[in-house]
This record gives sequence, structure tokens and C-alpha cells, in this order.
Amino acid sequence: MIVILKPHPDKEKLHQLSSTLEGYGVTLHVSEGAQTTIIGLVGDTSRVDIDLIRANELVENVTRVSEPFKAANRKFHPDDTHIPVEGRLIGEGTFHVIAGPCSVESEEQIIGVAQAVKRSGATFLRGGAFKPRTSPYAFQGLHADGLKLLLQARKATGLPIVTEIMNLNHLDLFSEVDVIQVGARNMQNFELLKELGRSDKPILLKRGLANTLEEFLMSAEYIMAGGNEKVILCERGIRTFETMTRNTLDISAIPMLKHLSHLPVVVDPSHATGIPWLVEPLAKAAVAAGADGLMIEVHNDPKHALCDGAQSLTPAEFDRVMKVIEPRAALENKRMGLA
Ligand code: PEP
Ligand code: MN
Repeated sequence: MIVILKPHPDKEKLHQLSSTLEGYGVTLHVSEGAQTTIIGLVGDTSRVDIDLIRANELVENVTRVSEPFKAANRKFHPDDTHIPVEGRLIGEGTFHVIAGPCSVESEEQIIGVAQAVKRSGATFLRGGAFKPRTSPYAFQGLHADGLKLLLQARKATGLPIVTEIMNLNHLDLFSEVDVIQVGARNMQNFELLKELGRSDKPILLKRGLANTLEEFLMSAEYIMAGGNEKVILCERGIRTFETMTRNTLDISAIPMLKHLSHLPVVVDPSHATGIPWLVEPLAKAAVAAGADGLMIEVHNDPKHALCDGAQSLTPAEFDRVMKVIEPRAALENKRMGLA
């Protein structure tokens, strides 16, 4: 349910209204926009006396929100959310490129790739230390040592790091990580999402391999319901009957998610296709469809990569993609006064 207030509500009366609403046992999400203030009610709203609230002098209107996602819903929060990370803002009107290898393999590899992608204009470094592999015999990541190497690469380049968590018991290990990634396979690991909801770290949540947008937003809701509203949605392709590409990039997910939600949306064209030469056209498509950023896999030696080498770009190929993307990134960042 949302309560839309008339402009410039009196503070004392707003306080009284909030207490009345809280008395119904619901949690309040207040969104103060430039024009209107909206109070979103989360929880069991069946006891709320709509007519009584509508009659309050501060209230313009009261409506029920039919979608099951509330905190993530644009109706609760009409303005776009911007997530601050290390002096950067992620969200509508900014553009960020998160680049790096699928997995961290060595000091030389991660620092070398970090320096290269930074030179080309990437604003975040990615790299997995805990890898969700289909085969238990495949390289599983360097675990805690991988996280240490990422921190070294951050120190060497100043790029904030994005890396995947697979187990809620590992959260302490991630205390210095800038953005925690939840991978496609864990999108509905609800206990993990709840734990991340109690942390204050920005979370990059990837869409599950076969999940609807409603399920995707409900997973964001799990994190937000715990109090952590710093969620970045990542479209990374879904399973379809097509076999020419690893997955099928759902371009329509970008404007649809931005229509339904106020959260930032980034796109991963590497996992979406599994084919390096498709990264550039799909990155362009994502930009054109309104994405707030990209996540691209880059490896110094893709042929010998321990994970996802087949889809990784070389630093030189990444540089060419960035030349295409950069004008848009500069334009967006300028619009936000960031560049
Ligand atoms: C990754 O980012 O390396 C990864 C495993 O991605 P996804 O969860 O989208 O498959
Ligand atoms: Mn990968």
C-alpha cells in the first residue's frame, strides 16, 4: 500500500500520521521526492483503515500495490536510486563498466588486468574468488587468497572491487569488498539473501538462469526487506531453446526492470552469450536500452584462463568495446555532474 502526501507536509502532523500507520504493525518506507512524499507500507496491510488514512489532512491518496515486491517497487520510490560506492554513484544518469577476469588466478594476472581495464576506462574491477562451477572437478577459485589478491589490485589501481559470495558463512571474509555479487545460481538462495539484507554492503544481484523478472525483483526484495536497500540488478541472459549462444540476453528486461523498479540495472553481455565477438554488439544494445552499466569479462590470456576463457575479451578487445561505449558513459556521467 502507498500513501501519497500533499506537497510540503507539516513535520509534526507527519510524525503523528507515521505513528498511526506503524500502529497497524507495518513497516514504513518514506520516499521524499522533489514534488511529493510517498509513504510505502510493507507487511500485512489488511488491518489498515484506508478510509481513515484517506481522510487525514496531509493525504492526497492511498492506493494498494498489487505487485508482491514493495521496497523494490517504483511506486514506493518514484525517484531512481543511486548507490554510492567509493566516491562513485551507480544508477540512472551514470554509467559504470565493471571489468575483469571470471576468476582471480594470480597476483600478476589480476593486477595486470586491473591496470589494463582501468586504462581503457573501466570504473570497477571484477574477479571471482569463489566460483560456482558446474563440475566439482573444475577450478573452484582461490577463495580467501583470491580476495586478498583483489584487495591488492584495488590498492594498485584504485578500482573498487566486485566479487561473488556463495556461502553466507563467508560474509566476514568480504568485509573489505566494495560490492558483493550474488551469482545467477544463488539468486534464490533466500538464507544468503536475508543475511546480505542485514549487511550494509552494496549487492550486485544477478538474474537466475531461468527466473522471471518478478522472481528477480522478489530476490531484491529479500535483501531490501532486511534493511539493505543498496541493490544493483544485473541481467546476464536466461536459458531459452536457443543453443547458438550460451544464454539469451533479455534486452526487454532492461526497460522493464527500470519501469517496475527504482534500482540500477547493469548488463553482463559476456555470460549472456559466451562468445567474445558478441560482447560489443550486445553492449551497444544494452546501452541503447537504458542500462546503467556493463559487466564484462576480460582476461590477459583467455586461451589459458581457468574459468570462462572462451567468452573473455583480451585487454585490446576490451579497449575497442570501451571506445564504442565511452561517449555514452561520458554523456551520462556529465548529466549527473560526475565528469
Ligand atoms: C560470473 O560473474 O563469473 C558468474 C559466475 O556469473 P553468473 O552467476 O551470471 O553465471
Ligand atoms: Mn564467468
